[in-house]
Amino acid sequence: MKFCGECGTENPDTNRFCKNCGGALRKPAEAPATQPAPAQPSAGVVQPQAAAVPAGTQPVPAAGETPKRTWLGIVALIPAILAWILYPVLLGIAAVLFGITSIALARKQGTRFPVAGVIAIIVGLLAIIVNIYWLDIFPPPQVLPPIR
Ligand SMILES: [Zn+2]
Repeated sequence: MKFCGECGTENPDTNRFCKNCGGALRKPAEAPATQPAPAQPSAGVVQPQAAAVPAGTQPVPAAGETPKRTWLGIVALIPAILAWILYPVLLGIAAVLFGITSIALARKQGTRFPVAGVIAIIVGLLAIIVNIYWLDIFPPPQVLPPIR
């Protein structure tokens, strides 16, 4: 059963709109916390919100115990990907520098090895290489006569 957020009418789970007022029905799991209690205070009816938010299912790991991971490697992926669209050399160098820095930081701080940083270095270098040898790899079709 789904209760209408507008008028509180019970609706079957298959309904997407309230049969009474036509308002859009939310699934119980998507019920917002700010929604007030249903207008029908009938006893024995299980509130949909009760099961929506199980408390304490995600234990927060204690700080300092789990090895932190540096996000710099993932950050380095952004210029690495953009290097294939925009400035290949500039963003490619930026990706390589970010990637090297992420590896150096991970070694210094003893965090997880940034695989994303290595990928960023490779993708960034490839963008530079492909840019330099672009005309050799993909020669333009010789449609126009050469300009003298
Ligand atoms: Zn309604």
